Amino acid sequence: MVNEKKSSKNLKNADFDECVKKGISGEIKLYALEKTLSCSDSVVARRKIIEKKTKTSLEHVSDYNFDVNVASKKNIENMIGATQIPLGVAGVVKINGDYAKGEFYVPMATTEGALLASVNRGMSVITKSGGAVTFVDNRGMTRAPVFRTTGLKESRELVKWTENNFNRIKKVVESTTRFGKLMEIKPWIVGRNVYLRFVFDTKDAMGMNMAVMACEKVIVELIEKEIKAECVALSGNMCVDKKPSALNFIEGRGKSVHAEIVIKKDFVVNTLKTTPKDVVEVNYRKNLLGSAMAGSLGFNAQFANIVAAIFAATGQDIAHVGEASMGVTTAEMHGDDLYVSCYLPNLNVGTVGGGTGLIGQKEALSIMGVTGDAAPGENTLKFAEIISVAVLAGEISLLSALASGHLAKAHAVHGRGKDK
Ligand code: NAP
Repeated sequence: MVNEKKSSKNLKNADFDECVKKGISGEIKLYALEKTLSCSDSVVARRKIIEKKTKTSLEHVSDYNFDVNVASKKNIENMIGATQIPLGVAGVVKINGDYAKGEFYVPMATTEGALLASVNRGMSVITKSGGAVTFVDNRGMTRAPVFRTTGLKESRELVKWTENNFNRIKKVVESTTRFGKLMEIKPWIVGRNVYLRFVFDTKDAMGMNMAVMACEKVIVELIEKEIKAECVALSGNMCVDKKPSALNFIEGRGKSVHAEIVIKKDFVVNTLKTTPKDVVEVNYRKNLLGSAMAGSLGFNAQFANIVAAIFAATGQDIAHVGEASMGVTTAEMHGDDLYVSCYLPNLNVGTVGGGTGLIGQKEALSIMGVTGDAAPGENTLKFAEIISVAVLAGEISLLSALASGHLAKAHAVHGRGKDK
C-alpha cells in the first residue's frame, strides 16, 4: 500500500517544486502532473496548487489509506485526496434467499443521521419474523448505440441483419471478455434512427465498461463494415444508464430483485409502535397514490437512501442510484399481520471491477461474504439480494415511523443530536 504522507516526505526535490510553481502559474495543467511526477507526488503537488490558488487549507482531504497508484489510474483523474464518509453497519438481518442465506450485517456509508437507526429497526423485525424471502433475476447490463440510416428501408435492413447475424455478434462480444456473455439485442426504429439495445450477462462485474468495449468492437468490426449504417453514438440513451426510465422499470436492467416479509402484529405494535392497518394505509396513500399523482417512477418511500449508502460503502458507481431509486413497495394485511414487499427492477451492482477494488470498499463487501470464492456471478447475485432486504427494512421502518408520527422525533434525536 502506498502511503502518500510517507512518500511526500521525500518530495523536496527540484522537479516537485518546479511542478508546483508551474501548476500555480498555469504553465502545467493539473492533469499533466503525472507526466513528470509519480502518482502520489502528483496528488500532493496538485493539492498544494489548489491550496495556493483557492487560498484554502486541504489538510484533512490528504488523510486516506488506499493505493494512490491504483485509484489515480482506475478510479479518478486530477486526484487531490479523499472525502471521508462515516461508515456504519445495520443488522443483523436474516435472509432466506436463493443466494443470500443466513444472517448478515450490511455496511452503509452516509452523513444522514437516523438512516442506519431506521434500517436497523426494520431489520430487527424482519429477523424476529423469521427472515425475508428474496430472489433475483439477472436481467443483464445494457448498452444501446444509435445508428443513422437513410430511411426506413435501411433501418429495417439493419435490424434484419442484426437478427440474422446474432451468433457472429455474440462471438465478437465474447472475444473481448472472459466472463461477459451476450444475452440478446433489442431493436427500435424511429425514422432514420435505429437503436440496438445490447444485453449482457456480466457475471460479478456491474459491467458498463465490459458492455462498452464489447459494443465498440461489434460496431467497428461487423456492423459498419457490412451494413450501410453509421453509429452516431455508442450510447443512444435507450440503455438507459444512470437515469430513471419507464423502459428500465419494465424491462429491468442489471439485477431485478424482490424481497418480502410477513411481520406479526405484535412486532408491529411493540417494536414499530404502530398497527399493520396504519402501515398499509400509509403505503397506499403515500407510496402508491402519492407517487402516481406526482408522475414518479419510484413507488416507494426511500429506496435511494439505502441504496446510496450501500453503494458508497462498497465502491459501486453511485450515479446508478438514479436508476435504483425506481421500484415498488407493497403492503397488505395478512390476517391480523402485515405483509410488505419491495421490487427493485433496476439494481446495477458488482463485486469486482470499478471502485470495488479499493481496500476499504473491499472490506465493506467482505462483511457480507460476497468477495470469496464462488461460481462467476454468484457473489453479485447474493449482494443484490442483501441490498433488497436492507431496502425492505428501510421501507418498513419509514412507513411505520410515518404511520405512528415518529419521523420528526427520530430525526431530531439522530440527525440533530438532540437528547431523547
Ligand atoms: P471493469 O473493472 O472495467 O471490468 C471488470 C473486470 O473484472 C474485467 O477485467 C473482468 O475480466 C474482471 N473479472 C474478474 N472476475 C470476474 C467475474 N467473476 N465476473 C466478471 N468480471 C470479472 O468493470 P465493469 O463492471 O465492466 O465497469 C465498471 C466501471 O464502469 C465502473 O468504474 C463505472 O464507474 C464505469 N462506468 C463506465 C461507463 C462507460 O460508459 N464506460 C458507464 C458507467 C459506468 P474480463 O476482462 O475478462 O472481462
